[in-house]
Amino acid sequence: MAWTETYRCDVCGRAKHEDELDWWLHWVETISPTPNDPDQPVFRVTPWNVLLAHTPNVGHLCGARCAQTELDRWMAPLHESLRAEAAAAVEEDDQAPGA
Ligand SMILES: [Zn+2]
Repeated sequence: MAWTETYRCDVCGRAKHEDELDWWLHWVETISPTPNDPDQPVFRVTPWNVLLAHTPNVGHLCGARCAQTELDRWMAPLHESLRAEAAAAVEEDDQAPGA
């Protein structure tokens, strides 16, 4: 039985044609900058690869524009949580005894 998997762009939902090779794959990994620092996430993008495309947790993107949209979506909440953490740290400093 001939069966080909249909991939769709995670951002715009467009279906990938088999002959389109200019698609991208993306996923998120974590790295630990130093042993004492908390892990932090890394957004990775790589050109289309059929084996990687099957991998769980790997997303599919139809082009640079959708890759940028996906990156924006990924970055925005991270920036907000970093800002919230920074604001909380400032408040803690304000409340420190003797400050
Ligand atoms: Zn797309």
